Amino acid sequence: MTDCEICGAPATKKVKIDGIILDVCDECAKLGETVSISLKKPKKKIKDIEELDVFIDPEYPKIIKDARESRGLSIDDVAHEIREKRNVLSKIERGDLQPTLELARKIEKFFGVKIIVESVQKFKDQKLRKSEEYSLTIGDVVEIKNDQSL
Ligand SMILES: [Zn+2]
Repeated sequence: MTDCEICGAPATKKVKIDGIILDVCDECAKLGETVSISLKKPKKKIKDIEELDVFIDPEYPKIIKDARESRGLSIDDVAHEIREKRNVLSKIERGDLQPTLELARKIEKFFGVKIIVESVQKFKDQKLRKSEEYSLTIGDVVEIKNDQSL
């Protein structure tokens, strides 16, 4: 039990007097500023986890082909313009090859289309509490001694 640092009675509180925190009784507490000691614990933060999911639109072959054809360009033209190999572009248009993000960005920029899909997914960082713990019965390991003859 702490005694009031001012009058010696049993201390019940902590107060701040002249910048010093003292254990004091109810009476002396009136002289200072009450310090809350229990609410100082930092609140447990729930972290939001953001995951940026970036992927190529599965419709990319069609999007690219449509964009190219609507501009009246041949694959060769595009290959020349964006400095990519013709067969790479043709594979992409056939859906045989998924463009890298880098190439996809180039294509997007060139055609003004969108083939990269970015979606932000938010997860709450919740740790699942083990609500149940299985206690194993020892039945399996009980050794039954039956030495007594009946
Ligand atoms: Zn006191």
